[in-house]
Amino acid sequence: MDENRMNSNKLASVEQRIDAIQSVLQARGLEPDVAIEKAFHLAEEDWIPRNGARIIARAWTDPAYRQRLLTNGKAAAAELGFDMPPHHRYLVALENTPNLHNVIVCTLCSCTAFSIIGLPPDWYKDLEYRARVVRESRTVLKEMGLDLPATIEIKVWDTTTDTRYMVVPNQPPETIGWPEDKLVDIITKESMIGVARLMGN
Ligand code: FE
Repeated sequence: MDENRMNSNKLASVEQRIDAIQSVLQARGLEPDVAIEKAFHLAEEDWIPRNGARIIARAWTDPAYRQRLLTNGKAAAAELGFDMPPHHRYLVALENTPNLHNVIVCTLCSCTAFSIIGLPPDWYKDLEYRARVVRESRTVLKEMGLDLPATIEIKVWDTTTDTRYMVVPNQPPETIGWPEDKLVDIITKESMIGVARLMGN
């Protein structure tokens, strides 16, 4: 432990600090390696945008499910087997229409419905995005490659700890009639955040 301690002139390196935290946890009978392994598994295998894509593909093809999704997103996600952490009390599905485009942000930090749409991209956590998408959303979306006509209103939704959002993009007209499985493949994380459209839509 001695080499891990900070002295008044020098900060311990990140590695030394991690080692120190690990040895304290181990000394108390906790298993940080197991917890880290579990977190990696969740992030890479369970919290994937394909979950949200499946929800949206179902909503596109089943009007009754779409209505349930818009009424209570968390219950609709659970119907397809997708859990959310208890502190994500609400999942609000934001329906894009021909005249309205929704986009989400967490102005405070980086909250998303990560178990549904996947972990947030780095740019989502960036101060630049968090500040500017609120003040000049049309410009920011254009810079990100989404040039919306002036006739389309933009609504920006600020995520909180207990209320998480997902954007329900418009179904590209050329995909009407596609089977649900094929639709799932075209729905991206970016479209569920609201910074991209799908295909030619
Ligand atoms: Fe946040």
